[in-house]
Amino acid sequence: MSELPVIGLAGGIGSGKSLVASQLRQLGCLVCDSDAMSRDILRDRAVRDQLVAWWGSGILDRDGEIDRSRVASIVFARDEERRRLESLIHPLVEARREALFERPPPGTKALVIDAPLLLEAGLGDKCDSIIFVDCPRPIRLARLSAIRGWSAEEVERREAAQWPLDRKRQAADTIVRNDDDPASLRQQVSKALEQVLAEIGRVR
Ligand code: ATP
Repeated sequence: MSELPVIGLAGGIGSGKSLVASQLRQLGCLVCDSDAMSRDILRDRAVRDQLVAWWGSGILDRDGEIDRSRVASIVFARDEERRRLESLIHPLVEARREALFERPPPGTKALVIDAPLLLEAGLGDKCDSIIFVDCPRPIRLARLSAIRGWSAEEVERREAAQWPLDRKRQAADTIVRNDDDPASLRQQVSKALEQVLAEIGRVR
């Protein structure tokens, strides 16, 4: 692992973590998008075969690939199935993240972990600083309904697998509010990055 500061992103579902991640990328950070990595890992043959062995070929789409919405409905309905999936996928994501962070391009300012279950998975310990993306629930629900077609029930089902928001907020070093336009978020993100670089620079 390089000596660069590591920033973790936390927040409610649909709070804007990925948007913050892309803004940090534009500001010169190297981002590990754990969701994208998980999606890629689900296309791996060995992983696909393991999931079919657990849950049957009903989880495959017409092309024989994993249908993520079918997997989601299994794992968000039963905790033990979710844990089983996580114990398979998380170590694979971790290995890819370590490989990505091993050699950041020259000039990289910081490393960023964008993982939906950052704190729940114990990844907070790997971070020098955690940014909590705060976005009021009604705004999150409106965005998720408009963009992903998710109902409030769907969001609740997924939230049940996560820490309560207050606990995540308390674990954070910095809070950015995402209840306005992306430009206002970007200003806060830029300031938060400067703070991390100044503070981590001091301790290292
Ligand atoms: P998840 O918890 O599912 O990983 P997330 O926290 O990463 O979600 P995003 O994917 O960044 O959240 O944001 C959710 C949706 O809301 C996205 O479609 C994003 O483009 C939109 N969005 C986020 N912030 C804003 C904003 N300030 N203005 C308008 N749309 C926004």
